[in-house]
Amino acid sequence: MSRFSITLQSLHDEVSSLERKLDESEASKFLYDEVAATLRRILREPVYHLRDQLDQNDSFDLVITWMKLENRTVRSIRLADLQAPKIFLQNELRWVRTMVEHFSLWADGIEPVYTEDEIEELENSDVDTGVDDEVILLDQIKGALYGFAIGDALGATTEFMMPDEIQRKHGRITEFLGGGWLGLEPGETTDDTAMTLCVAEGILDSPRDPIDSIGRLFLHWQATHPPDIGVTVRHALAAYQGDWARAAKKTHLELGGKSAGNGTLMRCLPVALAYPDLQKMEDITVRQSKMTHFDDLASEACLIYNRIAHRVLNGENLRVAMVLETEETPYRNTFLQRPTARPDGFVVNTLTWVFYLLWTYPTFAEVVQQAANEGYDSDTVGAIAGGLKGLATGHGPLSDWGNKLKGADRLNYVAKKLLELRMSQLA
Ligand SMILES: [Mg+2]
Repeated sequence: MSRFSITLQSLHDEVSSLERKLDESEASKFLYDEVAATLRRILREPVYHLRDQLDQNDSFDLVITWMKLENRTVRSIRLADLQAPKIFLQNELRWVRTMVEHFSLWADGIEPVYTEDEIEELENSDVDTGVDDEVILLDQIKGALYGFAIGDALGATTEFMMPDEIQRKHGRITEFLGGGWLGLEPGETTDDTAMTLCVAEGILDSPRDPIDSIGRLFLHWQATHPPDIGVTVRHALAAYQGDWARAAKKTHLELGGKSAGNGTLMRCLPVALAYPDLQKMEDITVRQSKMTHFDDLASEACLIYNRIAHRVLNGENLRVAMVLETEETPYRNTFLQRPTARPDGFVVNTLTWVFYLLWTYPTFAEVVQQAANEGYDSDTVGAIAGGLKGLATGHGPLSDWGNKLKGADRLNYVAKKLLELRMSQLA
C-alpha cells in the first residue's frame, strides 16, 4: 500500500491534536484565514480553472483532496493528469477536516455529498492516490536541491548590496543575471551550493557516519581556492588537525567567541533529505554544524530548519511545519512581520528572514526573487529559503529556472543517489 494512502479514522484523532497545538499559536490564525479564503475562492471556480491554480498556491492540493473526498467534479480527473508536483493526502485531509470544522464551510453554501453513514464507511476504508511514493520523493528531493541552487544563483548578483543600490543598478531582479562581486555567469552558483553538495556527497560516501567524508570533501573544495569561502568556515578548515569539533572550538575562540554565522545552516539540507529516521537526522544535523561552527545558535537553526524539511518530506504543509517547529523556539511568530534586522550572515537573522519569506510569498519565484532584491547575504538567504520552498513545491514548477542553472547534471545525480539512500532505509 502507498505511503500516501489514508485511513480517515486515524485522521480524526490527528485533527484534534493538531488543532490543539495550532490553537495556541498566533501564527495559526493567519494560516486559517488564508487557507479558508483560498478554499472559498477556488471552490466557486470551474474545474478547468483549478489547473491554473497549480504552482500558484500550495493550498491547491488540499482543495483537490477535499473535492475528491466530497465526491465533487474532480473525481473524474485522475490526480496524475494534473501533474501535481505533490499530492499529500494524509496531510491535506487533516487540513480539510480542520477547515471544515473551523469554518463551517457547509453553511457557506457548500454541502457535503456524503451522508453521515457514508462518511463512516469511508472512515473505515483506505483511499489510494495511485501516485508512486518514489516518484513523489524524487520530485521533492530534486525540488529541494534545485530550489536551493536557484536561490543561490539568483541572489549571487546582489550579495553584499543594499536594496536601494540594487534598485538603482538592476531595477527589480527576476532572472539569473550573474555578475555580482564574484563576477559569475548567469545561473552560476556559489559556496552555498558547493558546500551543500559536499555534505550530500559525504553522506553518500559514508551514510552511517558521514562527518569525516564530509570534512574530506570540504578540504578538497578549499583546495580549489574558491573566492567566496566564509570567514568561520575558512578558519575552521585551517584549524582542522584530525578533529572537527576541536577545529570549531579553536575557531570560535580565535574569532572572539563569534561563530554563529549562517555557514552551517546553508549546507544542512541534504541531511534531512538523506535520513528518514528523525533521531539519526537530528544527530547528523547537529554534528555537521559543530564541525565548523561552535555556537549553539548555528546548530539550533540547522535543527529547526531540518525538522521542518523532515515534516515536509513526510507530506506536511510547509507553513504548518514552520508553526509547529518554531513554537518552542525564539523564532516563534517572528515571521508574521517583516524583520527589522538585516538579512545578513548572522544565523538568527538569516533564519528569521528565511521564515518571513516562506511565510509571506506564496510561490517559489516570489520567495527567491524577494531574497535577491533584499540584498546583504542574498545568495545564502535565497538558497536556504529556496531549498525548503522547492522541497514543498517539488521540482515541477522549478524546471524553467533549472534549465538555465549551471551544474544541473551534478544536482540530478546527487538527487537520484539521495533518493536511493532514503528509500533503502524506508524498505
Ligand atoms: Mg554564497
